[in-house]
Amino acid sequence: MIGMVAATAAGRRGCERLAAAWGPARSRLYVGPVRQCVESAFEECDHVVAFLATGATVRLLAPLLAAKETDPGVVTVDEAHRYAVALLGGHAGGANALAEEVAAVLGAEPVVTTATDAVSMTALDTLPYPAEGEVAAVTRALLDGDTVQLRAEPQWPLPPLPAEPWRTPGTAAEHREQEHEQEQEQEQGRPPLVWLTDETRDPHPGQDTVFVRPPSLVVGVGASRGAPAAEVLALVRGALAEAGLAGKSVTALATVDAKASEEGIVAAAAHLGVELRTYPAQELARVAVPNPSRAPLEAVGTPSVAEAAALLAAGGATAELVVPKRKSAMATAAVARRRPRGRLAVVGLGPGARDLLTPRAAAELRAAAVVVGLDQYVAQIRDLLRPGTRVLESGLGAEEERARTAVAEARAGHAVALVGSGDAGVYAMASPALAEAADDIDVVGVPGVTAALAAAAVLGAPLGHDHVSISLSDLHTPWEVIERRVRAAAESDLVVTFYNPRSRGRDWQLPKALAVLAEHRGPLTPVGVVHAASRPDERAEVTTLAALDVATVDMVTVVTVGNSATRIVAGRMVTPRGYRWQR
Ligand code: SAH
Repeated sequence: MIGMVAATAAGRRGCERLAAAWGPARSRLYVGPVRQCVESAFEECDHVVAFLATGATVRLLAPLLAAKETDPGVVTVDEAHRYAVALLGGHAGGANALAEEVAAVLGAEPVVTTATDAVSMTALDTLPYPAEGEVAAVTRALLDGDTVQLRAEPQWPLPPLPAEPWRTPGTAAEHREQEHEQEQEQEQGRPPLVWLTDETRDPHPGQDTVFVRPPSLVVGVGASRGAPAAEVLALVRGALAEAGLAGKSVTALATVDAKASEEGIVAAAAHLGVELRTYPAQELARVAVPNPSRAPLEAVGTPSVAEAAALLAAGGATAELVVPKRKSAMATAAVARRRPRGRLAVVGLGPGARDLLTPRAAAELRAAAVVVGLDQYVAQIRDLLRPGTRVLESGLGAEEERARTAVAEARAGHAVALVGSGDAGVYAMASPALAEAADDIDVVGVPGVTAALAAAAVLGAPLGHDHVSISLSDLHTPWEVIERRVRAAAESDLVVTFYNPRSRGRDWQLPKALAVLAEHRGPLTPVGVVHAASRPDERAEVTTLAALDVATVDMVTVVTVGNSATRIVAGRMVTPRGYRWQR
């Protein structure tokens, strides 16, 4: 809930605008004496927006501050609604994000002063996984550009960090090199370390260490009726502690359906702040486990509850049992580890203009530790990448290698973005990449504005009725196939957009394709030629089938040929939708 406080009429108008945008389910207006409003909002809400001077807000809040982890995020807005200031709780309290939101609604400028945000660096307290340890000291080292090491065992997808990968020495030479480095470190002190692991390790004395806990563990539990929550909890905690496993890496408790409302288990899950997942007994009975037994078979119909449920919830066949079943008087517990899953985002960058790159694409680029793409596309977005992003760019023609590299990096557990211009699924990298990818990685697609749409918006409304895109590149598709499709489009009177229409070495295909279309539509059929849509050198022309000069067409161009109903109206290409009121 976002609590809103105002002291003046202008402030109250601001609150009303925010309330209109957010609705009563998300926001609440506090009315009355300002001090009381601020105190109540701070007490009762997750976020506070105060239309007050920062000074006044600081004075009112000072006595209320408790801890960064629990205090609400606070944003202040000035009387003229020019600035939305993230005053308190930038990360943990969500004030930085809220300032952006408030600014978007009010047309104000967000003011964010958190150091990592100001330099667009990934903050250790905003990783997708919990971080514990010397967060402030290691963050400072990252910001100062000091050497920080990143040790990932194993790798889980993380956003980029300007850190040096930890190397496990393999060859004798590497051993010697590392020994030498360690001697140096003994003199100079060890560099701060970010350590991604679900194991509870002791930091090296004197080395600032942040432990990042991947979502890798599931605890399977069984319990007799009436088993107390304290007993279940103690058993779970004991199992983790003895095996040296971090509680923050536990994502779920798992058990059999029959125990879905067993109080001790439900309360233990709630206490640990994790979800409770349950499975039918028959499903659990099919899981191979090291310690089956008769008691659960008789009670609930499966020879294993704790081990089988832990393994199932941790991914089944790919899961590893790290703590076999252990028992207390009324409960059982076992711990399984999930295999990490890398993440491949296939991101369309749009036709070129920055404001045609979607916010979702920008967010995926910031979240990716590895960006793979054609060098000229990477150049288009390099400024959006966060410090520490590993960029793997290659030149034209290396499609297969790019697809392989992206998938291999995701398989190694990284957060990868494979980028392409326009939409990355249209004559681009999505299909070769996904043809390579097995189901051991997560894949997300971010659509982009494809060239045909960017060009259509420049030309008018040429795609108002049924249309196709056809690539005239016969590098990977035999010309006969292309020609057959052009002919089919011609016969069915579809509007056609040609991609890859003409290059220096491929100059006869476009005239040939236009000739095929001309067999079925008149010489005055409108044709739109758009070069570099949305880019600084954009050039567009609306002409006709008969008048088109193919010499104006190159590889950064799309050519859209109207159908028999397409007309030129006020210089714009218009293909009627077919509404009867509009003959
Ligand atoms: N994935 C891209 C298409 C890649 S094929 C997309 O969805 O847009 C490359 C072809 O796209 C080029 O030969 C050209 O025909 C077309 N193209 C890409 N960007 C363009 C732009 N900004 N303006 C005009 N045509 C463009």
